[in-house]
Amino acid sequence: MSVDLNVALSERARQVLPGGHLSPSRKLGQPYAFVRAEGAYLYDANGQRYTDYHCGFGAHVLGHGIASIRDRVFEVSQRIDLIGAGIIDLEVEAAEALVRLIPCAEQVAFCNSGSEATYHALRLARAVTGAQRIIKFQGGYHGWHDYVAMNGQSAAEKLDDYDPMSDGILFDAARHTVILPYNDADAVEHYLKANPGQVAAIIVEPIAHNMGAVAATREFLQALRLLSSEHGVILIFDEVITGFRHALGGYQALIGVTPDLATFGKAASSGYPVGFVAGRRDLLERVGRSGERGVFMGGTFNGTPSTLAAVLATIDALSQQGVYERLFALGDYLRSQLDGIIERLGIEAQSAGFGSVWLLYFFSGPYRQYRDLLANDDELDLALRRRLIEQRQIFQPLQLKRLYLSASHTREIVDDTLGLIEDNLRSLR
Ligand code: PLP
Repeated sequence: MSVDLNVALSERARQVLPGGHLSPSRKLGQPYAFVRAEGAYLYDANGQRYTDYHCGFGAHVLGHGIASIRDRVFEVSQRIDLIGAGIIDLEVEAAEALVRLIPCAEQVAFCNSGSEATYHALRLARAVTGAQRIIKFQGGYHGWHDYVAMNGQSAAEKLDDYDPMSDGILFDAARHTVILPYNDADAVEHYLKANPGQVAAIIVEPIAHNMGAVAATREFLQALRLLSSEHGVILIFDEVITGFRHALGGYQALIGVTPDLATFGKAASSGYPVGFVAGRRDLLERVGRSGERGVFMGGTFNGTPSTLAAVLATIDALSQQGVYERLFALGDYLRSQLDGIIERLGIEAQSAGFGSVWLLYFFSGPYRQYRDLLANDDELDLALRRRLIEQRQIFQPLQLKRLYLSASHTREIVDDTLGLIEDNLRSLR
């Protein structure tokens, strides 16, 4: 009998990795061990091919193993590696490119992940305002650190109250985070008026992709902009998902509302560890000062040459004519086909998403905030995802989780998956 190499590797992993994975959110419910990735596909240790709709938590907007990215990283790594003193040419070039592209960016500070970026942006906001509290919205995710690791997918009884994502969070840090409902400018106004001088920052995903794809209305973002300015609060757009995925300038470039600071990561570097804070010069300059009135933003690996090479190559690739048009067209096609399936089968569901981010919600009503998503039929959502994973489609087996397309996905690839979705839903409903 031949050995199942996925099982063999998973057994070794269970011995040396906690829970056998790097985090519970990587578990697929089966022992899958991947050894190769190319375009829209992953290959496991047994040589089986999978279609990837996870795209490295969204980092791969171009697809896996893109030659122009690989070549640029290889070329740079032959010339220079981590220096950690002075400056390097690549960080100046990358920052100049980002300042050209992102509306709020007068300066850019590099780090290694989205969580680091939100951490630094919030520390900076506290430093410049002297206030302690931050406002975050129910259903949003801004990283793993103690300021924000709370109130993602909360149970009904925990909505808009303190709902930590982990044991061990420092309550003294978390209690300064105020949770409000998304798309509710009145709630924000009310809180700011009732607590003058207390709030340092509002942090918001301009499309709340951590609850699937709940778009902020333009009015909500405009109201946040106005209220922040009126109350001396720093407005932070968390563009860790939306940045580069929907536009090179971030969602702010599409919606026409400019925050004070914005955080980026994921798709900015096609799979190399990156994060950065972009924003107003007068704010970011505090990061450049040491001692009193300076904001410390350390990190041995900040601005690693290979990552910066990947950022520059990603910008070049995404600047090619038609890339975003194709991503949006494929996303719209997928959603329209999903709506056709829903109609044919007569199930209570709706396609959702924006551009290359997509998912199915299993309820039929409107939605503006996390509370509305409690209507989702989680059982059906999970059952479909589990079936699709068994059929070698890589979906996170978690309800309401967004899925991604990349520029390497094609209509043919998507059509195959749509066929599977329809067959599965027919038997599951
Ligand atoms: N902000 C948003 C909107 C995210 O979706 C994520 C990760 O999913 C983060 C921040 C944290 O980024 P990272 O996982 O790179 O630390």
